[in-house]
Amino acid sequence: MAVYNPKSLKAEEFINDEEIKATLAYAEANKNNVELIDQILEKARPQKTATGCQCTGLTHREASVLLACEIPEKIQKMYEIAEEIKLAFYGNRIVIFAPLYLSNYCINGCVYCPYHAKNKHIARKKLTQEEVKAEVIALQDMGHKRLAIEAGEDPKNNPIEYILDCIKTIYSVHHKNGDIRRVNVNIAATTVENYRKLKEAGIGTYILFQETYHKKSYEELHPTGPKHDYDYHTEAMDRAMEGGIDDVGLGVLFGLEMYKYEFAGLIMHAEHLEAVHGVGPHTISVPRVKRADDIDPDMFDNGIDDDTFTKIAACIRLAVPYTGMIVSTRETEEVRQRLLRVGISQVSGASRTSVGGYTQEERPHDTEQFDVSDQRSLDEVVRWLMESDHIPSFCTACYRAGRTGDRFMSLCKSGQILNCCHPNALMTLAEFLEDYASPETKKEGYEMIERELARIPKESVRKIAEQNIRDIRSSNRRDFRF
Ligand code: SAM
Repeated sequence: MAVYNPKSLKAEEFINDEEIKATLAYAEANKNNVELIDQILEKARPQKTATGCQCTGLTHREASVLLACEIPEKIQKMYEIAEEIKLAFYGNRIVIFAPLYLSNYCINGCVYCPYHAKNKHIARKKLTQEEVKAEVIALQDMGHKRLAIEAGEDPKNNPIEYILDCIKTIYSVHHKNGDIRRVNVNIAATTVENYRKLKEAGIGTYILFQETYHKKSYEELHPTGPKHDYDYHTEAMDRAMEGGIDDVGLGVLFGLEMYKYEFAGLIMHAEHLEAVHGVGPHTISVPRVKRADDIDPDMFDNGIDDDTFTKIAACIRLAVPYTGMIVSTRETEEVRQRLLRVGISQVSGASRTSVGGYTQEERPHDTEQFDVSDQRSLDEVVRWLMESDHIPSFCTACYRAGRTGDRFMSLCKSGQILNCCHPNALMTLAEFLEDYASPETKKEGYEMIERELARIPKESVRKIAEQNIRDIRSSNRRDFRF
């Protein structure tokens, strides 16, 4: 039987079923242990240091106790601390991105995904480079600067060379004042060699959702195709790191398996990356299964309600304080609003989940991967964020300045966010306001920028940011960053 070892490179040892079951039993036994819960909450809280503050995070066992706890005041405390952590390390900035679907050809049999190979009636489509260009222009015209590219797994139709060509095309398009400055990649688990090629192509984060950490369920949910191999899939992030990609994004597709099992597995995966590579995941995504072409989410028995979902997000925030957290347009405006308060740092906006969807006047459904719940325009999403005092940020500075992996984490821990990320967010917001916003959003945006510039502690930085924003307003000069 496999023995738990976070430093092992074998899936069954770092995501160890016995350890997860023991964790769940420990959490269940202690879910009303108020003394222990208070200790864990205290441990999670940011501590003041000479340069700012720091967090220790929580182990998967500690975090699982909090997730199991059902005492309303303690849950409230979790939310408060989650927000405190978020504000301490990410401030009130929310990074915005959009997915770009390149191809829905797929040879896998994932039972929750309409792109599964047995789906013979869904239209199959793969963008040509001309079509990629047109999609990118449409995305730039909305104001997007960051994309996450998505594709099914199909070595014939979507080989790595195709993905690399698309990345090249995306970075080459400069329409009016627009450009895409960071391409994150969400494609199936692949080889070290291919990860190296992706790194060389200048990608930001490599994102791969585990879907479920429960091996037996995983194999049932992925009955056919290369994705069936649990170990190969679970060990993908280690290969990505070996290939030089040090920003990786984890995620679980909530609803497939029991959420407490998934949560423990997810935190163990983060601990494993930290133990082996010295840096945890750059982001964690929290997708829930959605209705799609031939997929009914009620087919799965483990759907979670909005309260549980919010609690999961807060517990992730407490466990891995420096990891960015992403919520997509799978969720409604209301749920996204709730999640923003408990630690989300990135949202997608104005997403279309069909291949070629951005160049269509009406939202197309023929090649769609799942129903989008939040269908607002990017301008509306930007205004909505500002109305709840969040700074919409299109910043891509870190990875372009080489601040990836542990260097990004050091910045996050250094307390320099207000002198670096904060002005970068404001300058990219100014670009959006100048080039793409409606008059109403523009007005609110500049009011926010004025208020927020005053919060930059270092006078020299504040002066430069003010000057750059004046330049953005009065000229076509763009892409300033600290
Ligand atoms: N094909 C790649 C893979 O296998 O990892 C990645 C891209 S896939 C386009 C992106 C993600 O969408 C999947 O990892 C899965 O978690 C999610 N997804 C698939 N079907 C979904 C559904 N019905 N509702 C919500 N999310 C879904």
